[in-house]
Amino acid sequence: MSQEEEKERTSALADLSSSTTGSGRHWKGSCLCGKIRYRVKSLASTKMAHCHCTDCRKFHGSAFSTFGETTTLEWIDRDEARKHLQTYVATNGSKRQFCRNCGSSLTFASSNADPGYIEFALATLDEASDGSTVVEPDAHVFVDSKVPWLNIDNDGLPKHARGRA
Ligand SMILES: [Zn+2]
Ligand SMILES: [Zn+2]
Repeated sequence: MSQEEEKERTSALADLSSSTTGSGRHWKGSCLCGKIRYRVKSLASTKMAHCHCTDCRKFHGSAFSTFGETTTLEWIDRDEARKHLQTYVATNGSKRQFCRNCGSSLTFASSNADPGYIEFALATLDEASDGSTVVEPDAHVFVDSKVPWLNIDNDGLPKHARGRA
């Protein structure tokens, strides 16, 4: 994992804040220890899915991950976030960020992702500015790698063997 790449991504995301500050509906999230906090806008158009790929299972230490895609993630305290964010770069070039203090899994970006675009772990959201919830994952992806001890047959969501078609 490279400190340089980590800084690059942290500042790329922080730079978004200049165009997205101000009032308006937003959602806040944080890691387990609270040293990393972020804000997200425009959740309404956010694609959300449960991912069963092996990398997500290992990274989260759980049966699957649930990520939302956004271009509006900003770190609330940029310096504090920079201090605690650690980036893991997988062999396929994808980058995953986590808190080096508490281990919370926070973000994912594939190797060919647009620099301003990121996926964030939906379960780290705390609350909406107006108390509303619009977190509604609408698919299971990479079901080919699903653990055998989890049954997802009856939740009514589409199941993709790999990514969304
Ligand atoms: Zn933490
Ligand atoms: Zn995955």
